[in-house]
Amino acid sequence: MPLSPEQLAEIDELRATPKPTLRAVSEGMEAHLYKAIPVLDHGFVRVIDYMGDDAAICQAARVSYGKGTKSVSNDEGLIRYLMRHWHSTPFEMCEIKLHVKLPVFVARQWIRHRTANVNEYSARYSILDREFYIPEAQHIAAQSTVNNQGRGEALTGDEAARVLEILKSDAARCYDNYEAMISQDGQQGLARELARMNLPANIYTQWYWKVDLHNLFHFLRLRADAHAQYEIRVYADEICKVVADWVPAAYSAFEDYRMGGANLSGKAIDCIRRMVKGEAVTQEVSGMSKGEWREFEALLKD
Ligand SMILES: Cc1cc2nc3c(=O)[nH]c(=O)nc-3n(C[C@H](O)[C@H](O)[C@H](O)COP(=O)(O)OP(=O)(O)OC[C@H]3O[C@@H](n4cnc5c(N)ncnc54)[C@H](O)[C@@H]3O)c2cc1C
Repeated sequence: MPLSPEQLAEIDELRATPKPTLRAVSEGMEAHLYKAIPVLDHGFVRVIDYMGDDAAICQAARVSYGKGTKSVSNDEGLIRYLMRHWHSTPFEMCEIKLHVKLPVFVARQWIRHRTANVNEYSARYSILDREFYIPEAQHIAAQSTVNNQGRGEALTGDEAARVLEILKSDAARCYDNYEAMISQDGQQGLARELARMNLPANIYTQWYWKVDLHNLFHFLRLRADAHAQYEIRVYADEICKVVADWVPAAYSAFEDYRMGGANLSGKAIDCIRRMVKGEAVTQEVSGMSKGEWREFEALLKD
């Protein structure tokens, strides 16, 4: 169960007592506030607080442009202009604070994004819950044969069943031993900060994670991408939906320029120019390596 009955009651109470405010409010985000969006088997992500909306991005940008600039006066157009030209600081005027429950091995990838503020559940102070991420059958996959950093086809038959059994029984045994070591029943009990070292990386942790919109977009660009591991990508996918409701114009520009767009090298642009003029450009005459050419060709395919 992602949230305890007490936490659910707290959310209901918070949502039942709205307060009037003079601050910028995003109606789309108000609908999400406090509610937990389930992710994986025991995880969730929920919005605890936010600051700003699409208008706040434009308001900040207009400070730098002053009254003289008329050409980018439309809000949506201005936001697209800012995104297109990497004028990123106006996006930093918006912030979001999330409460995330996630497996420890996912947290290790997530924490690499240094431009956020984090406060994590203390397993020195508190006892971790008996909750482990156990993948669904279709996600128990073999090592990829084409990508050293990824997975391939799902395991099947006896092998899949054996892996699932190992994951479940190891987690249960480790947690049983964790409880036995910290128990003060007839013994002193090992310190929680030491006992946790024996727990597997699929145990769940929780944190509050606060980040500005510019750095959140950077996180989403990397982690909602097909190259990211499935178990972090599902969190990023849910956050994408929340951001689309929070700042629709900024998200639409991000989706277009960052998620849908691509970085092209000078050589790639030169090849496209030659192709447009009718030249049959091949890898051999492109100036690109085989790997670069493969990625370039993939970009040009539908
Ligand atoms: C598909 C994928 C595979 C990965 N594989 C590996 C791996 O095998 N091993 C591994 O260790 N990591 C790996 N990573 C993590 C990756 O290298 C980055 O650490 C992670 O994506 C965070 O990115 P970031 O540093 O840009 O983000 P943030 O830490 O949020 O930083 C955002 C930006 O701020 C700037 N910045 C922040 N801190 C500094 C600083 N101290 N100095 C200079 N500039 C700074 C940089 O411009 C940076 O891009 C992988 C990530 C992805 C998405």
